[in-house]
Parts: sequence; structure tokens; C-alpha cells
Amino acid sequence: MQQAGTIKGINSESNDMLGFLNAEQYEAVVTLDKALLVLSGAGTGKTKVLTTKIAYIIENGYAFPSQILAVTFSNRAAREMRERLFNLTNNVDGIWLGTFHAVCARILKYHADLVGISREFTIIDADDQLKIIKQILKEVNIDKKNASSIASKISRWKDKGITAKDSRLDATSREGKIYKIYQERIASYDSVDFGDLLLYVIEIFQKHPDVLQKYRGKFRYILVDEYQDTNMSQYMWLRMLSPLGQGICCVGDDDQAIYSWRGAEVGNILRFEKDFPDAKIVRLERNYRSKGHILGAASFLISHNENRLGKVIWTETDQGEKVMVQRTYNGFEEARFVAETIRALHQKDIKYGEIAILMRAGFQSREFEERFMAYGLPYRVVGGLKFYERQEIKDIVAYLRLIYQTNDSLAFERVVNVPKRGIGASAMAKFYALSREKNISLYCAAQEILKTGALRPSVKIALQEFLELIESLRLRKDLRLTEIAETVLNRTGYFSALNQEQTLESQGKIENLKELLIALENFEDLATFIEHISLVVDSPKNSLDEVINIITLHSAKGLEFEAIFLVGWEEGVFPHNLSLKEENVEEERRLAYVGITRAKKYAFISYALNRKIFNQWLSNSPSRFLSELPNDHICHIKHFPRPGG
Ligand code: ATP
Ligand code: MG
Repeated sequence: MQQAGTIKGINSESNDMLGFLNAEQYEAVVTLDKALLVLSGAGTGKTKVLTTKIAYIIENGYAFPSQILAVTFSNRAAREMRERLFNLTNNVDGIWLGTFHAVCARILKYHADLVGISREFTIIDADDQLKIIKQILKEVNIDKKNASSIASKISRWKDKGITAKDSRLDATSREGKIYKIYQERIASYDSVDFGDLLLYVIEIFQKHPDVLQKYRGKFRYILVDEYQDTNMSQYMWLRMLSPLGQGICCVGDDDQAIYSWRGAEVGNILRFEKDFPDAKIVRLERNYRSKGHILGAASFLISHNENRLGKVIWTETDQGEKVMVQRTYNGFEEARFVAETIRALHQKDIKYGEIAILMRAGFQSREFEERFMAYGLPYRVVGGLKFYERQEIKDIVAYLRLIYQTNDSLAFERVVNVPKRGIGASAMAKFYALSREKNISLYCAAQEILKTGALRPSVKIALQEFLELIESLRLRKDLRLTEIAETVLNRTGYFSALNQEQTLESQGKIENLKELLIALENFEDLATFIEHISLVVDSPKNSLDEVINIITLHSAKGLEFEAIFLVGWEEGVFPHNLSLKEENVEEERRLAYVGITRAKKYAFISYALNRKIFNQWLSNSPSRFLSELPNDHICHIKHFPRPGG
């Protein structure tokens, strides 16, 4: 092992940076001559080791920044790592730091011609992917309701490194045939999907040893964060770049493997020693992030998983506060508990940006957003849109605005052709012209134009139906808001279109819309709701440091906060309904472990006895994970502070 002190040219700054490390971390940073795996629990400084190691390599001239490849699991994680690096060394220009996808896209740009696409190829997202598969299904007379399951099957094959030409693929199966057609189709569009980014680069490496050699020579050091969540094709790609493990350093934690549903294989991390017999394995045991009670609760919870390596983890800090568990009567009360506790924390000088609400699914954000707005607490929804900014919510709200006030031309514009009813640009041009000429709203203009012969018959019928729907609902003063919105969703076919799509995304939209229906019950009439909405949408923008983070458990991986709220700990919500099959419960438990270990000082867990989910009151039992928490480290809160109290 090289000792930092003996290295020629080491400057005092990097000595300082090493001085902060414990002995194991130090060893991991300065070991450069063999494959290295850091396998350890949450908050033990794995990411810190990675960033320090990069700085150490650069500062001591072991490699230029451009010879270092650092892969992280999300763009945000990459950004954070870059920031942490900047604090250690300002010489980071040229370093290859990004997600697997981003790095592969960059390599593919240089060599696209080798796999028959142009350098200007486009990257298609999951939505486009689904559209193309639907097109294909239509051509081969298969019901398009299968599209989403076939799309995910294709993605899983790609995660495993199985291309459409692979002999392991059952080319006679229905999915296999569609995979082949799909692949030809997107190639003819000069497009690649996310999985292709890796597969094409692997193909180039396999067929063009000279290219592979170039990258092997180029990347002297390869560092991978969150290695437990890599999939097979990412693994193959890494193995090609570093067949003997020279210069490779992977860090991860098998207890935090939470992406198996997306093809991640925790086996990759468990196999490391077999892959590289010469490898050095470093285990970090000291946690620097969380107070004792928090760490104790998390460690005990994860010990219920049978499928794990098991690790020692300890902290030198004091025990701190116990993990506080709050039972509430319903979801509304839960949100009130969270909002009031945040106020109290803020008074104790905890910054809003140091507080996070960790939820299992996106639809849960709404209840908290409403409360935060009512209390004037600034927040953001990390990695997603705020509830009332989501497309499907804006659509239905635009319908409500139009019903409330037909002069609202922005609302008219938004929904006149949503869902698509054939009222296209040429009809719109006529509405615009008349509205300008007579200085009337688009809605009035449309009404007038309907009476003339200016529109094609099919457009005329569609417009008539649209206007009739709005008019009929305007007159129904007896209907509750929820009923109005429901009528819109059903009569326009908005719901059924989403239902047909059957994708995770459309499912999320349906969940959001059902959540909107619940929200609408809190308003007397359209006027108060519209006023509420305009306040929500105009809420002042705060700088990122000063806002509470609402974030899903999955995207909270790697992050840390002073205080966290783990909400909705009820069977069916968390563990999630879809994961209740036994083999998935362990992954949900890992998610709970990831959640609790995000906290430095305070962790609150809450559950509601009654919860309205999708317009139906449910009384789910408390999450099984609550009963798996150790009594020594938790405290059940009887009351929570009332306003002013
Ligand atoms: P996770 O498993 O959640 O990704 P991790 O193992 O990557 O966690 P880090 O995020 O690197 O852990 O470190 C956790 C916290 O501990 C950070 O705030 C980091 O700055 C701090 N930390 C790590 N090592 C040390 C150390 N030797 N001295 C002081 N603080 C440290
Ligand atoms: Mg980390």
C-alpha cells in the first residue's frame, strides 16, 4: 500500500484532506494499485471516500482529471459530487463524472457510425418508447394494452445486456419478435433508448478492440458510487473497461439495494471478490451521519431481512433524540402534525432546507403541500413537479376554471383539444381571429363560429360537444366540486384514455387525479377553489436552501438532512401494495432503512388510522415495519403541539 506521507510532491492541502479520514477511509483513499470495494452501511463515508480519492489522485498527479471516470446513480448525485469535489480541489475540469447513461451517451457520440447511427442521434424517453411499441402492436394486430408490459420486458432484457440479436433471446416468442421490430424501427429513426446507450457502447467495445483499448488506456481510475444498484449491462461495461480491476473503486451497501424492479442486481457487489481475486475490501463501520438512537432503530429494522451480508455499524456521537412515532387519526391530521413539528424545529434554528418529508409514492405529496401552503411554509417537490403544477392536474383545473369563468381564454386554450378531439390549429386560428376582431373571449368566439359553416363537420361536432359539456356544468349549481370534476374526467374520456395506457406513468396520473377529487371536497364552491389555486400557483419562489424538501424514498438515496419525516407508514402505502409479495417486502424494508438513515438529528415516523386513498376511506393497519423497530430507540408521541401550543 502506498503511504500518503511518502508520496513525492504531495501538497499540504491534500494532507489536510486525508487528516479528516479515519484509518479505514484513509486506506480506501490511498489504495490505488488494486481493485477496491468499500462495502459498508449508510452514512459511513463511502461517498466521502470517493470524492476524497478523486481529489487525492488529481492533487498528487496520479492522473489528469480527464483520465478519471466517476459514475453516480443520478444527475443530482453527480452534481453534488462535483460540488463536494470543488471543496477539495479546484482542478476538476475535464473529469468524466456522470450517470452511466450520460457517460455512455458521450462515448457513443464519438463512435456512433460504428453501430450504424449518426452522431446526431436522438435519445428517446419511456414515453416515446411506448408510443413506438403501440404502433408496432397495431401493425401486428396485438392488443395495445400489452404495450407497457412488453416495453418493460424489453427494458429488462437490455438491463441484462441481451440485445435483439442475442442468441439467449427467444426470437420466436411474441415479445422477442416485437423487440426485434422495435430495435429496427428506432434505428431507422436514428434514435436510441436509455438501455441502448450502454448496449451500443458495449457492442462497439466488443467489435472494435482498438476503441476499447483507447478507453482502457484513457480511464486510469474508475470510481462507482451506489454499486449495489448497478444492473448487468452496467456491470459488463465496467468489466470491459477494467478487466482485471486495475484502478477500479466501487462503493456500496447491499442493505440499500432498492432498484431490483428496474433490473439492478445486488449480486454484482457480492461477486466483487470473485471477479477480482486480488481485490481489497474495505469495511467502514463508523457512522458519521446519525445520532445513536436513529442508527440503532435503522440497524435493528434492517436486521429483519434474511437476505443480507450483515455489518457492524456504530457511532461515537451521543444517542440524541429517539425516533419519534406519531399516530394520527387521518391523513389531514398527519399533515398538520408534520407542519406543526416543522414550525417547532424551525424555531430551534433548523433550516427548512435541512428538513425532508420522505414519501413512498408521488400522490402522497398533495396533503403536505396543502398544509404547508396554509401555514406559509416554503417547500419544493424534489425531482418532480408540485402537485398543482402536474400536467393532468393543470388540465382538469383548467376545465374547472373555464366552467367557472368562460372568459378565461388561457384555460380554453389549454383544454379545447385535451384529450384530443380534432380541434386543431386551423380551427384555433379562426377562434383567435374572431376573438381579436370583436374583442371577445376565445370561448365566445368559438360559440359564434360554431353557428357558421366555417368548420369541417367533424370539428364542428367535437366543438359542439365540448361547449355543451362546459355549458351543462355551468348550470348545475347543485353539483359538488368533486362531481363536476368527475363528470369532466368521464365525459371527456380523460380517465379512460389514461386507463388504457396502462403504464406506470399513466397510473401515477390516475392516482394524482383521484387525489385531486379528494382535495376538491374541501371547497364549498368553484370560486373558493379557484382563488386557492391562484394563490398556490403564485406562491413566491424561495432559494433552494430555504425550502422543505418533499421527496420519494427512492430519490433520497445518498442524501442527508437534519430532520426527516417518514410519512404514511401503513400497510399498503408502505410497504407499497404492489410489493406485498414476500420477496419484495425485503426491498421495501431496505427502502425503510434508506429512509431512516437519511436523518442526522431527528427522525419522525407517522401513520394514519384512516386514510382516504383514491376517494375511498381505508383503515389500513400500521406498517409492519413499525413493529420491527426496537423499543429502546423509539418513542411514541401521545400528543403533538397544537397551534400556538
Ligand atoms: P450513504 O450510504 O447514505 O450513501 P455514505 O456512506 O456515502 O452514506 P457519506 O455521505 O459519504 O456516507 O458520509 C455521511 C456523512 O458523514 C457526511 O456528512 C460526511 O461528510 C460525514 N463524514 C464521513 N466521513 C467522515 C469523517 N471521517 N469525519 C467527519 N465526517 C465524516
Ligand atoms: Mg453515499
